[in-house]
Amino acid sequence: MTDGKAHCSFCGAQQGPELPLIAGEEGHICEECVRLASQVVSSWGRKRAATRPLKNLLKPVELKARLDDYVIGQDLAKETLAVSVYNHYKRLNMESGGPRMQPANDDVEVEKSNILLLGPSGTGKTLLASTLARIVGVPFVIADATTLTQAGYVGEDVESILARLLDAADGNQDLAEWGIVYIDEIDKLARAGESVHGTRDVSGEGVQQALLKLVEGSRVKLGNKGQKSQGGEQVIDTRNILFIAGGAFAGLERVLERRMGQAERGIGFHVDLTNAETTYEACRVFEQTEPGDLRHFGLIPEFIGRFPIITALHDLDEQSLVKILTEPRNALIRQYQRLFEFDGVALEFTDDALLAIARQAIDRGTGARGLRGVLEGLLRKAMYELPSAEGEREYLVDGQAVEMGEIRRAASG
Ligand code: ADP
Repeated sequence: MTDGKAHCSFCGAQQGPELPLIAGEEGHICEECVRLASQVVSSWGRKRAATRPLKNLLKPVELKARLDDYVIGQDLAKETLAVSVYNHYKRLNMESGGPRMQPANDDVEVEKSNILLLGPSGTGKTLLASTLARIVGVPFVIADATTLTQAGYVGEDVESILARLLDAADGNQDLAEWGIVYIDEIDKLARAGESVHGTRDVSGEGVQQALLKLVEGSRVKLGNKGQKSQGGEQVIDTRNILFIAGGAFAGLERVLERRMGQAERGIGFHVDLTNAETTYEACRVFEQTEPGDLRHFGLIPEFIGRFPIITALHDLDEQSLVKILTEPRNALIRQYQRLFEFDGVALEFTDDALLAIARQAIDRGTGARGLRGVLEGLLRKAMYELPSAEGEREYLVDGQAVEMGEIRRAASG
């Protein structure tokens, strides 16, 4: 100020008719630097906003306990998921520990670990992923690998997954970038591009490549897909999005058996997933899965390599299905009891009945998913008659009723 020619204290630009400066106690700042500073500050705010839902991040044991409220059994998968989700969000908290904390530990960068869930249909893969997202408090979407296409083709392209994630986050980009994406039927990804002649066409690999990019971490343009965004082209950074892929990978145990059997010179091993007592241990075998094993399902090694954590879910036996019927917070039996209650009717099931329902669900071969179908069939008539029925205020379902597929009213009203 001594010669009347002030300079911006940040970039050194000289004051002039074209470049007015804002004066402070001891210095000046130009418009450009104000703008830059504003960007820096808003990025601090952004990190703070993003950390908020994860402040009270549950420890693995607590996470598993919360999962236990909703998901029956599958302890190995729960433990593995709890640890990796905890590490994932711990890593994010470290990364966004506020502007002052950033440079300190720059040399160690904890990499993201996506998770692959192996297990038959209806055993709780989707349920686990969605329950986790709810517990952690981040947006969550499910994508189906069989309907994924490359951009421009009919179906869902990978960008729309992110657009949906953004919608799930109510348009909050920061939150979306911390979300969880569950990709179902990943074992059929390669087959999605198979033509009727059995030759794999380019789009099959193309989808894998597109998905690979997404999973690896990239900045993806959404175009005009993000509906809740206010105009302009939105870019989503997938670096911190946790990807959980699930698939049945039917026949994988044989692939493992062959490979490991060979390695051990014919000693081999047999995976018996039907034995409830050893399911935990049997599932551990799947943790030996290597990228090469999954190539039998047409997945490219780079893609599998992006899912370093592999864990397995086991088939649900009768006892587990009975528990699923009655124990979770929103257990099916409770749901139907609530529906009946609405009409002032008490609905009760004997232990025999629960077991018979579980058995019928197993026969359907769709895991726990079959339970609802069995119950619907069983209760259909009662639900039809009930609202107009008079007198009877109690339904008792026993094993015999389940065998017959129809329930009777209890003798006393
Ligand atoms: P998938 O393994 O095919 O993804 P889902 O998670 O979609 O299976 O399960 C379908 C339904 O079956 C769930 O909505 C849930 O009601 C029930 N279910 C499956 N497995 C379990 C489980 N282990 N505990 C409680 N409910 C389960």
